[in-house]
Amino acid sequence: MRIGVDLGGTKIEAVAIAGGGQEHARRRVQTPRGDYDGTLAAVVDLVSRIEQEIGGRGTVGVGIPGAVSPATQLIKNANSTWLIGRPLADDLARLLDRPVRLANDANCFALSEATDGAAAGADVVFGVILGTGTGAGVVVRGKVLTGANAIAGEWGHNPLPAPRDDERPGPLCYCGRHGCVETFLSGPGLVRDYDTHVGLKGSRYDAREIAACAVADEPRALAALERYEERLARALATVVNILDPDVIVLGGGLSNIDRLYESVPRLWTPHVFSDRVDTKLVRARHGDSSGVRGAAWLWDPS
Ligand SMILES: [Zn+2]
Repeated sequence: MRIGVDLGGTKIEAVAIAGGGQEHARRRVQTPRGDYDGTLAAVVDLVSRIEQEIGGRGTVGVGIPGAVSPATQLIKNANSTWLIGRPLADDLARLLDRPVRLANDANCFALSEATDGAAAGADVVFGVILGTGTGAGVVVRGKVLTGANAIAGEWGHNPLPAPRDDERPGPLCYCGRHGCVETFLSGPGLVRDYDTHVGLKGSRYDAREIAACAVADEPRALAALERYEERLARALATVVNILDPDVIVLGGGLSNIDRLYESVPRLWTPHVFSDRVDTKLVRARHGDSSGVRGAAWLWDPS
């Protein structure tokens, strides 16, 4: 049995899945925010309760909102800042008395969808989470591509490609740069764009409401969604030019906008260096469960 743990900023979730992908147990607890030892204890307790429930021992993979530095083996780039600089993999391995595999949560999402989700069987998969941020991961022939700096797939902090005059320099990003893809394509990015064009100070609607209004043909929301689609197409076209994936899978709250799957492939074609684009754009099959399922699949499905 494979146990996957999704170590999020607000909750920690764990599942046990069998070789065919069936779930045998699932539990979640609140994340002890700011408390590293408490976080370790919560993960160990979840794994132990899952193992009591399934009546056996499993492999353990953990998805984290950050990365393991290849140089130091310590956690970096985590928005759960109490994990940064900590030897999380070693500490969990010691406490759980077995090797533990860690991966970025967006990489786990991509692995889940590539293993038995919307991109099952595809050679090269780019998985994107369009939510509060714009994380992404790359899976090649069933394996997560980590990269020399453990940042493969981190397109969210590239500049928005081919910016128009009114997109330069673009909004300030928390990473210190201006005009990052994330500042346009995250949920808060869509809200900011809508508010700016409508002249609102302080958002009245969230991303889901703007999308719903757009689908109902409310003109200002529709215009915001059309700008969003065109920007997503430009941003994904650069991914196609570099990685040329067979399938791009979208997850996160904004992936529920149905029209993206028709509009974005139409809009990305002029930006891709090819006479035709056969890359498929699909919605995640496992939804919010993909992070925790992908963590379990860090131990090979074969
Ligand atoms: Zn940024």
